[in-house]
Amino acid sequence: MANRQCLSHDQDMSTPAETAPVKILGRSATPLGYLIRDFLQRSDVPFDWIELANDDQARAEAGVSGLHDNRLPVCIFPDGSRLECPNIRQITEKLGWFHDPCRSEYDLAIYGGGPAGLSAAVYGASEGLSTVLIERSAIGGQAGSTSKIENYLGFPNGISGAHLAENAREQALRFGAEILIGREGVRGEFLPGKGVGHLKDGTKIVARSTICATGVRYRRLDLPNEDRLLGAGLYYGAGASEAALCNGDEEIFVVGGGNSAGQAVMHFSRVAKSVVMAVRGACLRETLSQYLVDRIKASPKVKVLHNSEVVALEGDETLQSIKIKNLQTGAIQTYAASRLFVCIGGEPQTGWAQEVGIVRDSEGYLVTGPDLLQGGQLPNGWPLDRNPYYLETNMPGVFAAGDVRHGSVKRCASAVGEGAMAVAMVHRYLAGA
Ligand SMILES: Cc1cc2nc3c(=O)[nH]c(=O)nc-3n(C[C@H](O)[C@H](O)[C@H](O)COP(=O)(O)OP(=O)(O)OC[C@H]3O[C@@H](n4cnc5c(N)ncnc54)[C@H](O)[C@@H]3O)c2cc1C
Repeated sequence: MANRQCLSHDQDMSTPAETAPVKILGRSATPLGYLIRDFLQRSDVPFDWIELANDDQARAEAGVSGLHDNRLPVCIFPDGSRLECPNIRQITEKLGWFHDPCRSEYDLAIYGGGPAGLSAAVYGASEGLSTVLIERSAIGGQAGSTSKIENYLGFPNGISGAHLAENAREQALRFGAEILIGREGVRGEFLPGKGVGHLKDGTKIVARSTICATGVRYRRLDLPNEDRLLGAGLYYGAGASEAALCNGDEEIFVVGGGNSAGQAVMHFSRVAKSVVMAVRGACLRETLSQYLVDRIKASPKVKVLHNSEVVALEGDETLQSIKIKNLQTGAIQTYAASRLFVCIGGEPQTGWAQEVGIVRDSEGYLVTGPDLLQGGQLPNGWPLDRNPYYLETNMPGVFAAGDVRHGSVKRCASAVGEGAMAVAMVHRYLAGA
């Protein structure tokens, strides 16, 4: 049975997937299948997921020996070419998105392609800076993982995160920014007037200024079986790519009490039989925007378990059940569950910054601007006569924008605003002011 999953896409998109969807054949409850669906969904590339039900279908439609053939999933592209069991890099290459840096040196290197990084790329490139953006995964960051952002200015009916990100990518490219997808910054060296970013694949990016917009990574449950069941019933984030695979008689579980969890709950409530939201707190109002509280309360399909924590994940090949503990009574109950979405916030990945002496707070967020001044004193080793600019770290010419920054607001609009503002500070820095 074909499980057709076409995502909205703009006719102006300049990707090879413009004409027809990518066809993916496989079994949905496999980590690689999920990784591919998630990547394509975030990248706003339309695709058809074809769920293989038996060996005969696998032979006839996917051209493999059976359901357990390790060449699955198979991706068939609009030009008829196919990739068997592909990794994300191969898909990126196939879409024509993978390329090497064009310049030996840039005015501005941006790490992270979420709202903050994309905004910095649009403003940097449009204001004449030679600009490169490095993104380890899909464009859009956390925002790209949500089915609908409803509080972003100018979109009264909401906009899908993937669509917003794709528009921003196109806008940045039109202004001449270079975007390197599927590349991860792992280390930096910062000398006066020059930064060298080392990417995981050995590429070096040299730039006169740097903006770190690497956001946060989903926090994990830290439970046994978590790695094994990841992508096979257990997912991090709002699961925008997964709703179309739900059949109407499933009960979906979402962990977390913040807006991202609330959005996931409402998204799944449209397609699932019911949705269970497990939250640690006693009251949704403390952690959730009022519009989501109202919708959750009004939905007959949603059940909220307060004072609750997931304490076990069970299943062999795929998730079969979970255990939830009531934090008030200590009682533990087992629930049959085939899909669990974990939306419990994130943590910054800034180990590289610590290595080069960039000041972080106790949770790893990068400290910038006035927050660097302790009792009016400049940070140790600060080499200039002026104070650090707003959004500048204690390393002159290295800026931080968006969720990775200490004290940031953790919203799309503020990340976009900080990306733009960081570029204004980059101009000042480059002008030597
Ligand atoms: C499910 C969900 C729903 C949300 N809904 C809303 C909403 O409705 N309204 C709202 O205002 N906010 C919402 N938010 C919050 C909002 O999405 C974030 O505040 C925003 O995305 C932060 O943007 P950012 O660019 O700072 O970081 P991120 O979005 O986290 O992007 C960081 C990017 O950096 C990349 N990266 C990380 N490390 C590296 C590296 N070493 N090298 C290269 N790339 C790297 C990551 O892959 C990622 O793409 C939501 C968040 C989630 C998770």
